Amino acid sequence: MKAWRIYGAGDVRLDEMKSEPVGEGCVKLKITHSSVSLTDRLIYGGVMQTAKSPLTLGRTCVAMVTEAGEGVQSLGRGDLVVVPPYSGCGVCSACKSGRFGDCIQMLTYGVDEDGLLRDFAVVPQIDAVKLPDRVNAEDAVFTEHIAIAIAAMQRLNLEKGEHVVIAGANVIGIILAQIAIYYQMVPVIIDERAERLELAERLGVYYTVNNVQEDVKQRVFSITGGRMADAVVHLASAAQPLAKSLEYAKKGGRAVVVGWNGVAVDLNVPLNTMLFRQLTIEGVNNGARSVKSAINMLAQKSVAVAPMISKQIGFDAVGAALAESAALPDKYMKIVVKL
Ligand SMILES: [Zn+2]
Repeated sequence: MKAWRIYGAGDVRLDEMKSEPVGEGCVKLKITHSSVSLTDRLIYGGVMQTAKSPLTLGRTCVAMVTEAGEGVQSLGRGDLVVVPPYSGCGVCSACKSGRFGDCIQMLTYGVDEDGLLRDFAVVPQIDAVKLPDRVNAEDAVFTEHIAIAIAAMQRLNLEKGEHVVIAGANVIGIILAQIAIYYQMVPVIIDERAERLELAERLGVYYTVNNVQEDVKQRVFSITGGRMADAVVHLASAAQPLAKSLEYAKKGGRAVVVGWNGVAVDLNVPLNTMLFRQLTIEGVNNGARSVKSAINMLAQKSVAVAPMISKQIGFDAVGAALAESAALPDKYMKIVVKL
């Protein structure tokens, strides 16, 4: 078995590992697709810390089940599965009652525990979700992004025709905009990178605003007919501060901060902003409860994710891809690894 392991900032190695036994309730997977994610890049760059060292990178994978351990009923040899990054701790009261999505100390593959940038893995059966035949393996690498976007949209509880400003045209932001359109809301997507806004437009987003070239507040004022946005989604990794994104919400509006732990740039907001404008702000850092809905959206082709794959690489090229994306963070939107 081979795994891409990180030993410290800039030090990633392809290690030969012993093959793991398939324990009770676990499945052995032959990984077919993985990806180089934002957290992999931040860990590689020394910006984000890991729970242990060395640590196998990789938040997610698509894989074929090659062996099922004792007690495994829902999965069998030959099944195609996706492993989202979330893994229940197994000891809290939510986990004990089978509600892993509510785990109080959810672990993340590739950050808190060994990840999935490897050729074979043994995981608990509850961490692997079977994919319907209609879902492309490459697309399923985006399951987590769709799930977290669905979770954010559910928090906002928007109605048809309402305006939602999305600050940050990253993968989650562009998927959020597509989900908003699917539910007949009006997304307005904001970013400083013209090529990201063009991609959003190609995927059906009508209102895009470049926050370097335009006065965003004025644009949102005019798009919403002077009402300002019913809701704001701020991507935690967005370059602009959260306080700026909140300026686009109407009085009494709602906001959700979305992103993975450890990737936030600037989330400082004076509480008097919330008070004066009567804003409701919530945080969403995972989509564990929306994984099945995300797979359904992929099966029904309700979101397009393939256009966001900027590069496909082989397993041996992961080290070079990490070094390149750490040096040029905006060059690739999503790097898919095909084994
Ligand atoms: Zn738990």
